[in-house]
Amino acid sequence: MTNRAIYPGTFDPITNGHIDILKKATEMFDEVVLGVANNSGKDTLFSLEKRAELCRLATSEIERVKVTVFEGLVVNYAKELNAVAMIRGLRAVSDFEYELQLALMNKQLSTDINTIFLVPDYKYLYLSSSLIKQIIRLGGDLKDFIPLCVEQAIKEVYKKKNQ
Ligand code: ADP
Repeated sequence: MTNRAIYPGTFDPITNGHIDILKKATEMFDEVVLGVANNSGKDTLFSLEKRAELCRLATSEIERVKVTVFEGLVVNYAKELNAVAMIRGLRAVSDFEYELQLALMNKQLSTDINTIFLVPDYKYLYLSSSLIKQIIRLGGDLKDFIPLCVEQAIKEVYKKKNQ
């Protein structure tokens, strides 16, 4: 039986912080499904398809990773996949309260799935998709924090918006 985990998120867009967590997760499981959520209630910069495409491009070299999209409750999707665990990343303390609430709620909704929190490398501790978008919009250079395809995609979106 495949020991599978799901790493769900909005990934708007995927950053090297997400990739760091994903790589760590692949060391623990046979397969990690990176699930791009359609219903996070967030106003996203990228469409669901574009977010998934960027995730696929950015993770194509990592073995045993599958990128999918899903809708609805993540615990239901996890069951569908027969996933044994849900991966979430924990950055600075600010993530803790929300992530704990989410993990406890998911446990309430489905006792079959446990959340595993992974901490990224130090340099990604304060990295977020929103910060990235803000800095690129203002003309900053963030090569070390996002894959090249993501940097290009963000620049393209802002170029179109400014036309
Ligand atoms: P969500 O909207 O579900 O929070 P995100 O795409 O923002 O989705 O993040 C998905 C998961 O990855 C979350 O658990 C988040 O805390 C984690 N994450 C995001 N950025 C980083 C980072 N730089 N380092 C570690 N974990 C991160």
